Amino acid sequence: CGIFGVTGVQDAANFVALGLHALQHRGQEAGGIVSYDQAAGFSEARRFGYVRDNFTKASLMETLPGSLAIGHVRYSTAGSKGTTAIRDVQPLFAEFAMGGCAIAHNGNLTNAVALREELIRHGSIFQSGSDTECIIHLMARSIQKTIPERIKDALRRVEGAFSVVAMTRSKLIGVRDALGVRPLMLGRVGETGWVLASETCALDIIGATFEREVEPGEMVICTEEGVESFFPFQRVKPRFCVFEYVYFSRPDSVIGGQSVYETRRRIGEELAKEAPVEADLVCPVPDSGTPAAIGFSQQSGIPYAMGIIRNQYMGRTFIEPTEQIRNMGVRLKLNVNRAIVQGKRVVLVDDSVVRGTTSQKIRDMIMDAGAAEVHFRIASPPTMWPCFYGVDTPDRSKLIAARMSEEEIREFIGVDSLKFVSLDGLYRACGAEEGRDPRAPRFCDACFSGEYPVRPSDMIDTGFKL
Ligand code: 5GP
Ligand code: SF4
Ligand code: MG
Repeated sequence: CGIFGVTGVQDAANFVALGLHALQHRGQEAGGIVSYDQAAGFSEARRFGYVRDNFTKASLMETLPGSLAIGHVRYSTAGSKGTTAIRDVQPLFAEFAMGGCAIAHNGNLTNAVALREELIRHGSIFQSGSDTECIIHLMARSIQKTIPERIKDALRRVEGAFSVVAMTRSKLIGVRDALGVRPLMLGRVGETGWVLASETCALDIIGATFEREVEPGEMVICTEEGVESFFPFQRVKPRFCVFEYVYFSRPDSVIGGQSVYETRRRIGEELAKEAPVEADLVCPVPDSGTPAAIGFSQQSGIPYAMGIIRNQYMGRTFIEPTEQIRNMGVRLKLNVNRAIVQGKRVVLVDDSVVRGTTSQKIRDMIMDAGAAEVHFRIASPPTMWPCFYGVDTPDRSKLIAARMSEEEIREFIGVDSLKFVSLDGLYRACGAEEGRDPRAPRFCDACFSGEYPVRPSDMIDTGFKL
């Protein structure tokens, strides 16, 4: 999901709409905005679909007045998977004795099922299927006197990954879990304005300047007077999601002082060093494989070409929740550039192989177009484990690399060769010169390594084996 908040600007909701538009790649199912204005109080709007189709209409934006607003773009991981109800769409809003509070969450809570049962037993009435709602009910049960203190109380009880943007009548609040699994950026806009956003590309779109990242385990409270900082959780070594670099974030974003594009390009260089091949062309599977293909081409000296063309009017296939839509989506989205690949030995670079169905279809299309050889190079290690921290990987039975070796996958897809980048190669590309330190890895890489930095306790309760 993508989260965004701004304070200290006129018509804050318009800024939020722009920010969410820049974060649309993080969630395409639905979006929502909550604003606060002294005269009008809190206003809310939640809609299915793209930001540009909803939150650009003057008639809707006029109903969201005020100088403080937050928003969310949703992609369903936890909660009512596939069948999102409008009441699952964030920001969630609740009225407490000390005033209203809206909250938007990116990530996934790993003890939400257990917490929900406990809260319901104690009288909480849940309105949605969303794990985020646990935070609201934990806040309601807190004895603290202010909303920020209640947020701290609540977040000390949840486990898992969360970057949170929240607001009261006067405060914009940002929090990251102790490991800092999901990103959260702090920016400045105008003389007195502050912005919180999942990625720097959302600061750029409104002309905000990057101030710094909200640190893992940090809570920031932004008002017109400035930014206060707190560290409410036990400090631990951060474990940012390495998959944000591989796929999830936008290539024009900078995370941890590193360009996402440059990181992906370097993964391609690592791949070319680890798994060289004689070929005529390097082609990306667009768009997710593009920077890595550029890196592969630069390192290997094999010319780069657009052997596959993407229809710009299709969204990211994997964010569509059902298998059927996903399967249809591939053909609607990608087409082979026959004139370019015919008779050529082609290296195809993609970011990841998850189910293996995309790769198989692409192989069929490119062979139909008359390619002489097809070599797959994948800019991440084999995806062998599901993510429980906010990225929608399917369960283990559907992950092709959990069932098959590299050679078996090669045969299944039907290509001349197939290589995944190593975990060490990925770490080097992400700035860890020495590779992955197995005693203290710098990132979360559980979907590749199976080493989960937070115990997925709800999943273990339902039989998941580590
Ligand atoms: P697959 O191997 O699952 O058929 O497709 C892999 C390709 O689709 C990659 O290009 C990746 O960008 C995208 N993709 C498809 N499904 C998923 C998914 O469930 N999770 C992730 N992370 N990427 C996916
Ligand atoms: Fe990111 Fe993978 Fe960890 Fe999930 S399991 S947070 S996708 S690295
Ligand atoms: Mg892709």
